[in-house]
Amino acid sequence: MEQNEEINQFDIPLAKRIYLKNSNSTLLKKLLIILPFLFFFFSIAVLRLVSNKEQGPFFNLNFKAESNLDHRILGHLPYAEIPKEKLVLIEPYIEVHIDMRDSLLKMREEAKKDGVYLVFLSGYRSIDLQKEIFYSLKSIRNQDAAERARVSAPPGYSEHSTGFAIDIGDATQRETDFETEFENTEGFRWLKNNAAKFHFKLSFNKNNKHIDYEPWHWRYEGSIEALKVFERSNR
Ligand SMILES: [Zn+2]
Repeated sequence: MEQNEEINQFDIPLAKRIYLKNSNSTLLKKLLIILPFLFFFFSIAVLRLVSNKEQGPFFNLNFKAESNLDHRILGHLPYAEIPKEKLVLIEPYIEVHIDMRDSLLKMREEAKKDGVYLVFLSGYRSIDLQKEIFYSLKSIRNQDAAERARVSAPPGYSEHSTGFAIDIGDATQRETDFETEFENTEGFRWLKNNAAKFHFKLSFNKNNKHIDYEPWHWRYEGSIEALKVFERSNR
């Protein structure tokens, strides 16, 4: 009995120590095997969460809210057609909003004094004419809507229907009419340096992600009505 007690006193803690030692190492081994899997699943879960935030319903909701706020279509803002009584003919086939006539003609006169000859290519365009320009050329050129919208506004979305937009060329380099190369003409250089004095502004610069750069297309912002029309665009 006494001997048994001695053995037990000695052996039980030893057995416990061995048991604990063994169980600790197997637990550690199990953990080491499971850990990479846990890490893998955790990473996948995190990645899915992040990509859902970027492309999932969250992102779409934000995008919708943003595009619905200003009612853009393919990057173009909607514009109402100017009432006929506010249109004036400044030369054959070129009609503009009466508010911008004087400033536009003055700008051409001042350019002439500097030896630069500006020519007006297109002013007011009705929504019907814009429809023709957008859909007919889209079909002839076999373009999809987004492709077409890079170079032409959909009907109801053109600054030209407000009467406050004007396409300008250089009378000495007509081959650059409606071409990006217009930016290399004296006409464009002059406009870049002077148009703001006459309240004209380039509408589609090189930073626009939906619409191609149009160095020939200028809009008037020299009256309250014009500023109201382009308020959203300037926001
Ligand atoms: Zn234009």
